[in-house]
Amino acid sequence: MNMSRRPDRPVLIVGAGPVGLVLACELLQRDVPVRVVDQATGFSAQSRAVLVWPRILELLRRIRVAEQVVDAGHRLDGVGYYSEGRLLGTAALNRLTDTPYPFGLTLPQNDTERILRDRLAELGGKVERGVQLVDVVDERQRMSVLLRHPDGRDELTETDWLVGADGAHSTVRGRLGIGFEGSTVDVTFAITDAPIDGPVRRDLLQYLYSRNGALGVIPLPGGLFRIATSVPPHEHGWLPEREVFQRAIDTRAGGIGTVGEPAWTAAFAVRTRIATQFRQGRCLLAGDAAHIISPAGGQGMNTGIQDAVAIGWRLASVIEGNAPIEILDDYARQRRAAAIRVAKTTALQTKWGLYGNQLAIAARDATFRVAHRAGLVQRFVAPLMAQTDISYAPGQGPRWRRALRAGDRFPLAWPETAVDSIGLARDTTTLARWPGRRPTVYRRHMAADPGQHVVDLAALPPAVFARLAAVLPAGPAVFLIQPDGHIADIIPDADVTQPAPTPRRPASEPAH
Ligand SMILES: Cc1cc2nc3c(=O)[nH]c(=O)nc-3n(C[C@H](O)[C@H](O)[C@H](O)COP(=O)(O)OP(=O)(O)OC[C@H]3O[C@@H](n4cnc5c(N)ncnc54)[C@H](O)[C@@H]3O)c2cc1C
Repeated sequence: MNMSRRPDRPVLIVGAGPVGLVLACELLQRDVPVRVVDQATGFSAQSRAVLVWPRILELLRRIRVAEQVVDAGHRLDGVGYYSEGRLLGTAALNRLTDTPYPFGLTLPQNDTERILRDRLAELGGKVERGVQLVDVVDERQRMSVLLRHPDGRDELTETDWLVGADGAHSTVRGRLGIGFEGSTVDVTFAITDAPIDGPVRRDLLQYLYSRNGALGVIPLPGGLFRIATSVPPHEHGWLPEREVFQRAIDTRAGGIGTVGEPAWTAAFAVRTRIATQFRQGRCLLAGDAAHIISPAGGQGMNTGIQDAVAIGWRLASVIEGNAPIEILDDYARQRRAAAIRVAKTTALQTKWGLYGNQLAIAARDATFRVAHRAGLVQRFVAPLMAQTDISYAPGQGPRWRRALRAGDRFPLAWPETAVDSIGLARDTTTLARWPGRRPTVYRRHMAADPGQHVVDLAALPPAVFARLAAVLPAGPAVFLIQPDGHIADIIPDADVTQPAPTPRRPASEPAH
């Protein structure tokens, strides 16, 4: 393997929202130079995305900001589903057993971005503010780009790699003629961050469904709540007043409190859009530039951050000369399928909350109660919200069998056993050796490359071994695990032998 190749030119990242910032940090940690431009001259002060799910904290750990995000945020035990003010059931995130972060977190997006900008600066990066991408042309071996500087000066430049993380109205996507297709759910949401004076739970994200419409109440750090309520369509630019939210609390949440002065308000129509392709030649799309997911599910930014990580390790490997360019097609295929799934489940959840017909409401509530009693809400909805169930296996969807498949996320941690890492390599594939449930004779042996990171799952404490035994094959196998924690391949009946003595490279530091 050739570890020495370095790019002559930096990767150009357009957009310094959360997605562009995470990608820049991922690449800089691999010593891949980046140039980050953003047309905005200042930082956004809007809270926008406030939910950070467990899987995203796992990924933010890779760039060493997860603990800071956790410290700054407010922890949620789970997601509560209510109908006409009565609790139907809860998806308990604090009962997730295989992540170091068994909780939901709320943190205003501007705070998340500040932490990411600080990390970018620590890594030696910076954002060129007020620099707008005006045009881009795909020249096959490189991208030609026209940038406009704040003083009006135009800069024509070339880059080997371009990432469009430039948000929902992406110029990169538009100039390359990439389609952006989808649907609009016929509903508008009014949102605000405001105090609520009353006995409102601060341990749950509450979805409150009623025959009058849907309401979401999310506790934020510092005592405020994000309130999102469905309203009839309004003209573009309408700014809802406090009374809109008070009325929703009164009629949909049993009048649990008095809404105080809003910090800000906004309204948006629920839309879903997915780019027809996430890669075109040497350009990759990520985040809102690639997909718009209804903010009602709180998954948009989270999905974008997963894109950033999925691009980061692959692109660095391609640039270093350690992986073929085709692995970027895996990014495009896997993340597009994942975005479609998140968009669909979020739109479905939005629609469920809007039932107005008594029969439909009764059927929905009865189904939810039965599913909750049967443990299905915990088994399927909690990992869905946490994004820990994202899988790149063909035909993803609810998994009735527990056995892990190639494409699934490998379980990373078991909080109750104090094991919070299986020691994955951050930058290279990990070979995880699984001996099977009983002492076995291996039928195949495979040799690791010198310096390859090998993890012996048999060396984990017995309680963890027992948990793994429930999801791993009965016989021996080797798991090839990608830097992002997803299983690239499962080789049955195999044992992996390391060449001895192993010349260890310091680069493969454990990240999970
Ligand atoms: C009111 C509101 C509430 C939301 N609530 C949630 C929520 O609860 N949970 C959730 O997950 N998501 C939520 N979202 C969505 C979330 O904010 C986005 O998914 C997230 O910001 C996407 O990040 P991004 O980095 O892809 O894009 P953005 O954050 O949009 O960043 C794109 C950046 O690109 C820059 N840019 C654009 N065009 C150019 C150009 N031509 N040249 C240079 N720079 C350019 C912009 O200035 C911007 O800084 C909400 C959004 C809104 C508006």
